[in-house]
Amino acid sequence: MEKQNIDWGNLGFGYIQTDKRYVSNFKDGKWDDGVLTEDAMITMSECACVLQYAQTCFEGLKAYTTEDGRTVCFRPDLNADRMYDTALRLEMPPFPKDRFIEAVKQVVKANESYVPPFGSGASLYLRPYMFGSNPVIGVKPAEEYQFRIFATPVGPYFKGGAKPLTICVSDYDRAAPHGTGHIKAGLNYAMSLHPIVEAHKNGFAENMYLDAATRTKVEETGGANFLFVTKDGKVVTPKSSSILPSITRRSLMIVAKEYLGLEVEEREVFFDEVKDFAECGLCGTAAVISPVGKIVNHGEEICLPAGMDEMGPVTKKLYETLTGIQQGKIEDKFGWVVEI
Ligand SMILES: *Cc1c(COP(=O)(O)O)cnc(C)c1O
Repeated sequence: MEKQNIDWGNLGFGYIQTDKRYVSNFKDGKWDDGVLTEDAMITMSECACVLQYAQTCFEGLKAYTTEDGRTVCFRPDLNADRMYDTALRLEMPPFPKDRFIEAVKQVVKANESYVPPFGSGASLYLRPYMFGSNPVIGVKPAEEYQFRIFATPVGPYFKGGAKPLTICVSDYDRAAPHGTGHIKAGLNYAMSLHPIVEAHKNGFAENMYLDAATRTKVEETGGANFLFVTKDGKVVTPKSSSILPSITRRSLMIVAKEYLGLEVEEREVFFDEVKDFAECGLCGTAAVISPVGKIVNHGEEICLPAGMDEMGPVTKKLYETLTGIQQGKIEDKFGWVVEI
């Protein structure tokens, strides 16, 4: 397969249009067969439900090349499961899980020349999404929907290695108890734009959101879950029904226990405990783990002992093991890596 003439090592994290995308339409109570198309544009009613009432959700996963030259993606079944759950919460017709995985494979195959070579640090980012497309003016779910997956090559999330981030405790809430924090809905991101712009203006990389009800417990950032490491080497992640269940975080917890033999805990994490942790990281598909060096709460600084120069030792071990499994360098004990 001839690769595109792209400077893979210098790709940023942005949209580049590729050759083919997958489209399936839901109408008269059923999904059609779905096709690959070259048309990257969407035309719909000015009154489409997604435009008026934000009835839309999405997923994100990567395809990449392993050391031995296979094109693979990581645990796409969990993206299919999560999008299914998200759709139900938004009163959208869920896209069948087996067809989701099949469509992911079709899109990667059709854009194989855009899958970056091994060692470049880049990958082909896949964006499945779905939206209500017919006109809706009285508030109710749409009757017609479109499910799509496009692909775009992206560079490493952090160029030149992951430097520890400084983040701040947000005065805004991300998700209400019994709200939509646990699903991957576009609306969760719309409302996070103002807090993140403000955080950036104040010199912070991300927001740490606390639980909306008591503002005493750590939830997550706008787009990544937290992992903490205790001073005695235990890996702890916050438990809450308003956190988005990150596939990366869930995989890292299994890596910690089953590969590294570490003790793991998913439990409520009080903000008051954060000062006692040894390491902190943010988990998500884009960067796998981004180390956090400093957390600022209204001028009061918590400096993690791991420091501001590099990842802490446990975070680094977790990062290297998971990326090693993804790249085919470490045994894939659980069948997470799916060949396209
Ligand atoms: C997508 C997302 C994550 C990360 O999930 P992954 O499956 O690991 O990519 C974390 N938090 C939020 C709010 C998200 O939307």
